[in-house]
Amino acid sequence: MGDGIRPDRSGPLPLHLGDEVQLKKPHPCGSDRWRILRVGADLRLQCTGCGRIILVPRAHMERRVRRLFPAEAPALPPDQF
Ligand SMILES: [Zn+2]
Repeated sequence: MGDGIRPDRSGPLPLHLGDEVQLKKPHPCGSDRWRILRVGADLRLQCTGCGRIILVPRAHMERRVRRLFPAEAPALPPDQF
């Protein structure tokens, strides 16, 4: 997935299903990469290290993203709620 993209702080981050984000602070398991499972007012993220799933407010998350790793192609089906 290359070196990723540094977020452009001039507007909302372009976050999509299946993308991965690197956060400034690593998860306790040691991984700092999370896969996006749902996009909305809240984001559902899965840790790529331990598989833990969290739900966080989007505004909260956007301040913590260091790099974006866009999905190569839409790999995940739309979330069904
Ligand atoms: Zn983890």
